[in-house]
Amino acid sequence: MTELAPGVYRLGHGAGGRVSAFLLDAGGELSLVDTLFEGDARLVLDAIRGLGRSVTDLKRIAITHGHRSHLGGLAALKRASGATVYAHAFEADIVSGDRRAQPVSVLPRQSLKLIKFQLGLRLNRPRHAPCPVDEELVDGDAFGPMQVIHAPGHSPGHLAFSWPERGLLIAGDAIATWPSLCAGWTAFTLNRAQHAISLQRMTTLEPRIVGVGHGAPIVDGAADEVHRLASQPLP
Ligand SMILES: [Zn+2]
Ligand SMILES: [Zn+2]
Repeated sequence: MTELAPGVYRLGHGAGGRVSAFLLDAGGELSLVDTLFEGDARLVLDAIRGLGRSVTDLKRIAITHGHRSHLGGLAALKRASGATVYAHAFEADIVSGDRRAQPVSVLPRQSLKLIKFQLGLRLNRPRHAPCPVDEELVDGDAFGPMQVIHAPGHSPGHLAFSWPERGLLIAGDAIATWPSLCAGWTAFTLNRAQHAISLQRMTTLEPRIVGVGHGAPIVDGAADEVHRLASQPLP
C-alpha cells in the first residue's frame, strides 16, 4: 500500500497484470475503486486494518469496468463490508455475471506479456465471483470525495474518477504503465475514437497524480504525460 496524497492509497499485488485498486479516506468513510485480482480480497482487507479502520468503514465500491483483473475481490468485499457497489450501466451486467465481457483479438499487438489477458477475455477464463451492482453511475456523479468521469473507449461503460483537491485522476485502463507507459493496452481498446476523446478530456483535469489500472501510478510530470499520450495517434 502506497499513500499517494492525504487519504489516497494505491494497492497492488502484482497479479492481474500489476492491477491497481485505490482506497480513498475522506471524512471518516472509506471508498474503493476496483478490487484487485485475488478472490479473497486479502490485500484490501489488510490495508483497511492497516489504517486502523474496520471493514464496515468501507461504504462504497466502484468498478471502473467489467474486466476480470479489477473484479476479483468484489464479492468478498461486499460480503465483508456491506458496501454499496457502483458501476456504469454498460458494465453492470458483466459485474453481476449476467453477460460476459466483449472478447478482444488474441493477436500480439504490444507485448507478449498481455497475451494471457487477451486469451482470458476470449475464453472468459478465469471467471470472477459475480456480485450485483447496487447503483449505476453516470458522468458527473459524486463517488465519495470524487467526481465520476464517463471515459469510454477501452470499454463502453469505462469510468475514471477525479479528486481535484488532491490533484488525483484515477484513469482506469484508459492509461497503463505496465508493461510500459501507454494510452491503454492497444489490443483492448474497443472504440478508438471514443478512447481518444476520453484521453483528451483527461488532459483538461491537469492532474498531479494519475492512478492507472495496470502498473505504478504516474507521480512525476503527470499532466504532461497525459497531454503527451492524448496528442499521439493511437497505435
Ligand atoms: Zn480493462
Ligand atoms: Zn485492466
